[in-house]
Amino acid sequence: MKSAVKEIVVGLILAIIVLLAIEGFDVTPFLFLGAMVFVLRFMMDSRTNSKRFEMVGSQRGQENRIPKVTFDDIGGQEVAKREFQEALDFMKLDTQARELGIRPLKGILLTGPPGTGKTLMAKAAANYTDSVFIAAAGSQFVEMYAGVGAQRVRQLFQKVRTDAEKANKASGIIFIDEIDVLGAKRGQNMSHMEYDQTLNELLTQIDGIKVNDEIRVLVVGATNRSEVLDSALMRPGRFDRIVNVDLPDKAGRLHILKIHAKGKPLADDVVLEEIAWETFSFSGAHLESVINEAAIQTLRGKRKQITLADLREAVEKVMLGEKLDRKPSSSEKKRIAYHETGHAIICEKALSGSVSSVTITSRGNALGYMRQNSDSDQYLYTKDELLARIQVCMAGAVAEELIFEQRSTGAISDIEQATKIAKQMVFAGLSPLGVVSTDLPAALVAKAVADVIREQEKIVFGYLQKSEACLHVIANALLEKEKLSGTDFRALFHKIA
Ligand code: ATP
Repeated sequence: MKSAVKEIVVGLILAIIVLLAIEGFDVTPFLFLGAMVFVLRFMMDSRTNSKRFEMVGSQRGQENRIPKVTFDDIGGQEVAKREFQEALDFMKLDTQARELGIRPLKGILLTGPPGTGKTLMAKAAANYTDSVFIAAAGSQFVEMYAGVGAQRVRQLFQKVRTDAEKANKASGIIFIDEIDVLGAKRGQNMSHMEYDQTLNELLTQIDGIKVNDEIRVLVVGATNRSEVLDSALMRPGRFDRIVNVDLPDKAGRLHILKIHAKGKPLADDVVLEEIAWETFSFSGAHLESVINEAAIQTLRGKRKQITLADLREAVEKVMLGEKLDRKPSSSEKKRIAYHETGHAIICEKALSGSVSSVTITSRGNALGYMRQNSDSDQYLYTKDELLARIQVCMAGAVAEELIFEQRSTGAISDIEQATKIAKQMVFAGLSPLGVVSTDLPAALVAKAVADVIREQEKIVFGYLQKSEACLHVIANALLEKEKLSGTDFRALFHKIA
């Protein structure tokens, strides 16, 4: 917004100068003044920017510019840590590597979803190799003036070398987060000349790292969109090591939870394994947030220890958002209770023991929700498993139809989810169409998806009809208590079913 205003003002001034020149005025003093302002701005810009790197990268005014984070502070990334450390060992064996003339490792690219610990990895790398550390984000190099981004790249490399010299260290690490912003394929950006110049400068600087450099520089880039990076950046001799920093599995989640719970007063009932089990698809940042939210809740409750209930509440808050004061009418509440009970009954039918909680409290966008867990993280699904997931998605709407004879808008996100799974089935060759080409006409895909979903709805309707007594008992229990744990739900389910 700010830069748009800036561009309009600059445009207006230029237009006035051109008009004055056409009218016969002598505009030389204006042009001279303009050039002075531009040079001054450029100089100030570079100064503030070099300060920006300094503030982000190193602890200002402190002798020690090496981050305190170590690889032990990073949980659940055993493969990534091992690969990364192996690459860094070259830096530690610098003398032997120089003797053998091994070309220095110049760049390592960390790829993976947000919040998985890429920045932590880069900091730990600096600690591991006793290197000074500077962090910058790709967006810091993007400016509307041609050449500014390239100049910032030069400053960054210069700065890491002077910082290392000052700190009396032999190496420095430059960490560039969101490297895709400046390293995307050339010629694709609107103002591509500026982007291309910046990327070219980065390539030049990386190529400039030599075996005999007094200060060894390593560039660590991070992105969650490695596919958009320019191939020149990825060729051997530049970012020639790619380390995938993925979402943690269950053991990884437990490790991360333990790291963040260290030193916090946990009550005796806390079993972190259970929280790790309930947090499939959470990143390290989510898990850190779970522990933090649970501690905040303990403080609010004026209690001394974090309980399992605090942690469970925190998981729901991180997953779905803050509890809301939204007060649905009593008829809406009843509908929500039957909707969620429908999901839970079908979920339990598909995978016994998998319901972790059912509630009709509004949170984030949800008016109620049913949480489901499985014993192990799963990355591949068979046809039956996908069909069962579609049944669970559609069970809320089907329960509404069975009890109230009409469905409501409450199933929109369930339908989205079911459609997504059915589409996956179609393209995985698991629908009645068999193996299909990826350019299957949209109308055929839509029909195949609708057919798959409709058939599963029929199965769900039949099952819920048979379990209607169970549906009433559990929905009424929910209306009374607002929330049922997986264990309470199963106790009712097995009593009646
Ligand atoms: P982004 O891609 O959004 O920049 P990132 O992958 O760089 O994210 P970090 O900034 O390293 O993620 O992580 C954010 C915070 O989440 C960390 O400060 C830490 O508290 C926590 N965290 C993330 N991953 C881990 C992990 N593997 N082990 C321990 N803590 C983690």
